[in-house]
Amino acid sequence: MDIYFDNAATTPIDKDVIELMHSTLMDKFGNPSSIHRYGREAKVLIENSRKTIAEILKASPSEIFFTSCGTEANNTVLYAVINGLGVKNIITSTIEHHAITHTLAMFEKSGLIKVHNTKLNDRGQVDINHLEELIETYDNSFVTLMHANNEIGNLLPIKDVSELCAEHNVLFHSDMVQTIGKYDINLNNIKVDFVSSSAHKFHGPKGVGFLYINGKNKIEPLIYGGGQERNMRAGTENLYGIVGMAKAMEIAAMNMEHNQNHIMGLKSYAIAQLKENVENIQFNGDSENKGLYTIINCSLPKTEKSEMLLYNLDIEGIAVSGGSACASGSTNVSHVINALNVNKDKPTIRLSFSKYNTFEEADFFINMLKKLL
Ligand code: PLP
Repeated sequence: MDIYFDNAATTPIDKDVIELMHSTLMDKFGNPSSIHRYGREAKVLIENSRKTIAEILKASPSEIFFTSCGTEANNTVLYAVINGLGVKNIITSTIEHHAITHTLAMFEKSGLIKVHNTKLNDRGQVDINHLEELIETYDNSFVTLMHANNEIGNLLPIKDVSELCAEHNVLFHSDMVQTIGKYDINLNNIKVDFVSSSAHKFHGPKGVGFLYINGKNKIEPLIYGGGQERNMRAGTENLYGIVGMAKAMEIAAMNMEHNQNHIMGLKSYAIAQLKENVENIQFNGDSENKGLYTIINCSLPKTEKSEMLLYNLDIEGIAVSGGSACASGSTNVSHVINALNVNKDKPTIRLSFSKYNTFEEADFFINMLKKLL
């Protein structure tokens, strides 16, 4: 049995998305900037995709800017606020994705900014009082906090954080790469200034994402060149990727409740089975009770065999990912697991589900895990 439980890393592309991308690849090759028919046809596809995405998120199409990925969206915001707006203090957390932490580390090293990390509790939850304290302490600041953590699934109380930032007149960016396509997100109700998203996390293609920029904000681009994306992102558009991303968003929005119920049921079942079958199992972050409904992160007993657990699971056809030394055979503990009060010697694994996973797969996985531990 081939089992893919690594959907936080990337998801398989939906068949309907592939079909639409394929027909677009076959029929539409115009450069969207060209004024002739071929160009105009391509342009229409791009603008329709923008409208679809904006409608789903209750944003205006003029607030959606296509990028090559979530990493580019994150970088665009950080470069713009630091280089363009002259922000000097960035308030964030140590468990953000490396697309944030490494970019900020580079800017801090160059002396342009100071990074201030919010306190986290043992489970990795952001201390909102400390966040407020940091906002009140540092002038000329900017907040970037992810909506859902990709390793432990912790969810930020994003509405509260957005209101806190708005009250203090501080710009707020959220990396929503793990939540867009998984929740019914209404950007009209959240006072967020910038949002990053990536298609391959919600059954769309790789190499395409978008940045939402609230209409009241004006920033400089990261990439200069032609006038694409209303001068916000130069470079001939990834037409097929953009069309595929919009289709994937549409499918996700249409089946949201059904998929949520299915995946939540699967997650609860897997947690119950893990507790029953694995002695001393510990769930990390908020992944047991709250948190993103697609992710389970747990620490397993350390045994001689568990050293190479991920490899052995892979040999048996099961794809999961790890966050600690033993499970992945590497010597690195992930920066997220490192920030938690977790026994770092134990193998840590992340299971992340999608609409395609089944209860039979969960059973097969648990049985195999018992054998391999
Ligand atoms: N942010 C988060 C939370 C992610 O999980 C990822 C993907 O790994 C990224 C950003 C980067 O997205 P992309 O792979 O599209 O660059």
